[in-house]
Amino acid sequence: MASLIFQGPDAHSGQIMTPARCDRCGARANLEAELDNGVLTFCRHHGRQYFQALLTAGARLFEYPVS
Ligand SMILES: [Zn+2]
Repeated sequence: MASLIFQGPDAHSGQIMTPARCDRCGARANLEAELDNGVLTFCRHHGRQYFQALLTAGARLFEYPVS
């Protein structure tokens, strides 16, 4: 049962407090990267993996509060 997984129609349309999913693996995201052409979300694992590349790309990074 995946009852804790949020399945809103549009998880990241501006609300940083909305639980989102990792764009790479679908796990619960804890990092949001805002780029000029959109927003990407990553889980802890992929956030760490792409962190340096995102900074290099000029992304603004936000961490979701861990609950
Ligand atoms: Zn991931």
